[in-house]
Amino acid sequence: MGGLHRGHRQLIRAARGVGGRVLVSVFVNPAQFAAGEDFTTYPKHPDGDAQQASAAGADAVWFPAVEHIYGDAGDANPERGPTTSGPQPEPSLIQTLCGPWRPGHFEGVLMVMERLLERVQPAVVVMGEKDWQQLTVLRQCLPAFYEQRCRLLPVPVVREEGGLPCSSRNCRLSPAQRRQAALVPQALRAAAAAVHAGERRATVLEQLVRGRLKAAGLEVDYAQLVHPLTLQPCPRLDGVALLGVAVHVGPARLLDHSFLLARKPIIAIDGPAGTGKSTVTRLLAARLGLLHLDTGAMYRAVAWLMLESRQPIRSGGALQQLLETMELRLAWGDHGQQVIRINGVDVSDAIRLPRVTATVPRVAALPEVRQVLTRQQRMFGRQGGLVSEGRDMGTAVFPQAELKVYLTATAAERARRRAADMTQRGQAPPPLATLEAQITERDHLDCTRTEAPLRPAEDGVVVATDGISVEQVVDKLEDLFRQRVSHDAWPAGRH
Ligand code: C5P
Repeated sequence: MGGLHRGHRQLIRAARGVGGRVLVSVFVNPAQFAAGEDFTTYPKHPDGDAQQASAAGADAVWFPAVEHIYGDAGDANPERGPTTSGPQPEPSLIQTLCGPWRPGHFEGVLMVMERLLERVQPAVVVMGEKDWQQLTVLRQCLPAFYEQRCRLLPVPVVREEGGLPCSSRNCRLSPAQRRQAALVPQALRAAAAAVHAGERRATVLEQLVRGRLKAAGLEVDYAQLVHPLTLQPCPRLDGVALLGVAVHVGPARLLDHSFLLARKPIIAIDGPAGTGKSTVTRLLAARLGLLHLDTGAMYRAVAWLMLESRQPIRSGGALQQLLETMELRLAWGDHGQQVIRINGVDVSDAIRLPRVTATVPRVAALPEVRQVLTRQQRMFGRQGGLVSEGRDMGTAVFPQAELKVYLTATAAERARRRAADMTQRGQAPPPLATLEAQITERDHLDCTRTEAPLRPAEDGVVVATDGISVEQVVDKLEDLFRQRVSHDAWPAGRH
């Protein structure tokens, strides 16, 4: 909506980083103004905006006139109130935060975005994470985004020196009001400190923020703790939640939010053998600075130990004893690679041998084995900071994970990948048909066992990987993660 500032310049730089040409649109959208909000007096600075956009690296700036976007349609007329044509926001997404305070706003945002995208047909849209609800509504309710015709790239919030998020509205504040506005990020930081000290109740966290701001004489529309993806109220902070605030300072209504973390994020990746799970998990973990927890390796290590000690693969006293005396240790090398030792022996390579692979599903079906390994996996999860891969990560071990993914691919495709993988490891792969049969057999065992069978989590995302590159799968998972955890909450890279 114009009034370009440091935040916008950051978006333009991020767009440059994607490659291709960068187009900036500046459009004050009448449909976004509710009755009583003044569209006609909204400040416009086209010359300054064009200059700034170009200096930040934009190839072009587009200032469409209202008719360019809406034609002659009367739905642009602010007097008529919000439009009912065009994509509609999912009702549950506008029940919280700004929804009740700004009737028609999200309808207006969706409508203009749809029309801008229709005209421009961009490959990527770059938007800031500051207006999180808007971003969430767009991602989930705009067909171009949810049908994946266009990628939405979110960019971290840029803040002024005092912590206030950059916004065109800040220029309407006097120096004294600016100081008052800076109390908002301060109050959010106080809430984060309370979380750090162990507070988990939403009412207490919300009241802490509201109380501080009211005491400073600010009018607070809301301070609300919500789930970052569903935007539903969160009565307790379990993993990651968003505390959103809207306040009035002088002439401006300001929005801010903070992600609160009770622990580091967890991503759970499940799926049958040969979907490229390991490679994808490893790359994703490196990108996001999370630890790669390969739980298949743990089941393999137990299978290796049972084979090594020539123990029959069944429940009973011998298994009990083996599990009680077993010492399974995981460690991570400099490049994030998992090293696994069982009873002091480094079995990282040995567990990949075909005889182990052939035995492991039967070992993994034994309830006692699952119980011991699940307990150990949950210990790792207490602190979070993991991308865990396996068969029951999202369903049994980490049902509270921020993101749960089920990777799939056809059996034929998975056989091809497994053959390539074996060749790379220096093993001679059997014929593809044999591999496919083995894979199908292994999946069957994993899917039909009584304990924690392989299946997608109810609130998980199924990602079919046929015909898309590993890089594309990782991009997709990163996008899914970023819909749930912002850059502020968990910056990319090593932690
Ligand atoms: O992923 P990977 O091929 O290493 O897994 C080997 C086997 O371990 C799987 O086929 C499955 O039987 C078992 N497994 C499991 N639960 C997990 C991870 C692996 O049952 N979380």
